[in-house]
Amino acid sequence: MSVELVAFTRPNPALSPESLAGISDIAALWRGQGTFQENLIEYAGRVCYRSTHRMGTAPNFIVDRVREGHEDIIEHVVVTFRFAHTQEPATWRRANRHCEVTPAGEDAWLVSGNTRVWLDLLRQGIGLETLPFLRAVAPRVYTEFGDTAPTEAPELPPAQVEPGRLLPAPAGNARVTLLAFTQPLVEDPQARLHHGSATFLVEGVSRACTHQFVRHRLASFSQESQRYVSLEKGQWKAVVPPAIAANPAAAQRMEEAWAYLQQAYADLRAQGIRKEDARFLLPNAAETRLVVTMNFAAWSHFLWLRAVDRAAQWEIRAVGQRILEMLHAIAPDVFADHWQVYQESFGGAVEAFP
Ligand SMILES: Cc1cc2nc3c(=O)[nH]c(=O)nc-3n(C[C@H](O)[C@H](O)[C@H](O)COP(=O)(O)OP(=O)(O)OC[C@H]3O[C@@H](n4cnc5c(N)ncnc54)[C@H](O)[C@@H]3O)c2cc1C
Repeated sequence: MSVELVAFTRPNPALSPESLAGISDIAALWRGQGTFQENLIEYAGRVCYRSTHRMGTAPNFIVDRVREGHEDIIEHVVVTFRFAHTQEPATWRRANRHCEVTPAGEDAWLVSGNTRVWLDLLRQGIGLETLPFLRAVAPRVYTEFGDTAPTEAPELPPAQVEPGRLLPAPAGNARVTLLAFTQPLVEDPQARLHHGSATFLVEGVSRACTHQFVRHRLASFSQESQRYVSLEKGQWKAVVPPAIAANPAAAQRMEEAWAYLQQAYADLRAQGIRKEDARFLLPNAAETRLVVTMNFAAWSHFLWLRAVDRAAQWEIRAVGQRILEMLHAIAPDVFADHWQVYQESFGGAVEAFP
């Protein structure tokens, strides 16, 4: 069977250490010591531990996380192959339900999976031809397979996108940053839907918001941990709903409650209570951030529910609309219907954060 590397997660071309100066800690991505894809994996892991300042200091970071079972971090890099002269990939979804398999002509298949999916398939002895390519993209994920010489990842055409539409976008206190995406240049619209993917950093949102986010099951998340990060280290603020902010008496009550809980948290910590237990005091308002990856089909479903429907909660809707803006920039045909509804329902402009 012949195999061709068609697409893999690549950086948002609008991001650079210069364009990110003073914005969050995303520039830490460039301090990683691996391939961009490995740096993205490490960054996602370090978002969980709030240790992005240590990017590139631990060569075994990925291997150690995978060994201890913190494997969501290797779900943020997606790799797509075309297999020719074979029917074999048609059955691979039975081996791992998280891969995407679509026909690509006679006896040929497109198969996408994140690096965790490919690791699992390889461990089952499936798709071994992909190993040299996977080792070119993210060698540290595949160290258990020994010294298979990496094939150099082929030069893929540059992303077809206006970088101006891909800059980090504020949404009130929140911020949405497109970190990376895959853009398989294939004719079939169904194939683009299932094999395209995008990874975002969502910051400054409440736990109430991210609880809704993580209900989406066809997605990969790495969220800042309240178990490993303390309130003092996280410096989390309370996200205040606009309706409360606009009501002075309600705003004051919320401020008092938050101050009380902050103090109670500090008291428990001073009594030797571990972070994982002190966090039981933290309310839904507590600020958090996450890295999220979905393929375009899953983003499509998410956007229908969360971005262009007025029934969606204000906070996740504002975040969803920024995500829609950027996804429309990288895949206008895939998200054309969402865009049209968005324009019709929300006046053709990005809805202001309430
Ligand atoms: C306005 C609104 C109000 C809500 N209110 C509540 C609430 O009160 N309580 C509450 O618990 N949740 C609530 N939810 C969450 C909602 O029920 C879903 O859990 C969430 O939106 C994730 O979407 P999903 O399940 O459609 O799809 P995802 O998890 O994003 O999965 C995508 C698609 O995959 C398929 N799929 C995935 N997993 C399965 C499965 N196990 N079985 C069958 N099909 C599957 C479905 O077709 C699904 O649409 C609300 C959501 C919205 C938008």
